Amino acid sequence: MPKGGKPFSKELAEAKFELQEGVCAACGEPLYKNSRTKGKPRAWHAHHIQNLTIDQSIENCAVVCINGDDGGCHIAFAHLGNTQGPTMPKEEFKFLWSERARRWKSKKANDFPLGVKAHLRDESGTVVWVEPPILYVLKDPEE
Ligand SMILES: [Zn+2]
Repeated sequence: MPKGGKPFSKELAEAKFELQEGVCAACGEPLYKNSRTKGKPRAWHAHHIQNLTIDQSIENCAVVCINGDDGGCHIAFAHLGNTQGPTMPKEEFKFLWSERARRWKSKKANDFPLGVKAHLRDESGTVVWVEPPILYVLKDPEE
C-alpha cells in the first residue's frame, strides 16, 4: 500500500487510544493523546494493521509510537522497517487492547442502546466504541 492512504478518523483513532489506555500497542510506552506529529513528545500514529486502508474498523487500528530515527514502532515494528513491504501480524502487538477493554470486548452490542458505529461516553465517563455486533468498553460498567 503506497503512502498517503486514507487515515483513520480522529474520532476512531482517539477511541482506540483510550481502549489501549494511551500506550503504544507494540512497546507499551505511554503516549500523549494530542501528540500526533513526529518529533513531538510521546507522539503516535493510528496504524492500519493489515496495511489495507480500505479496512477502517477499530479492529484494524493500532496506536503506535513514531519517534526515533527508525520511525519508532510504527516503521521499525509495525511495518518491519519498510512501508512498502508486509506488515506485522495483529497477534504480535502486545498492547493492542487494555486488560479492561479485552475483558469487555466481546460483550454484545445488544446490551447497549441500539445505534450506529459511534464513539460514546456515558454519564459515568465510560468510553465505548460500538461496532456491531461488538461493543468495546474501556471501563467496567459494573464498577
Ligand atoms: Zn512503541
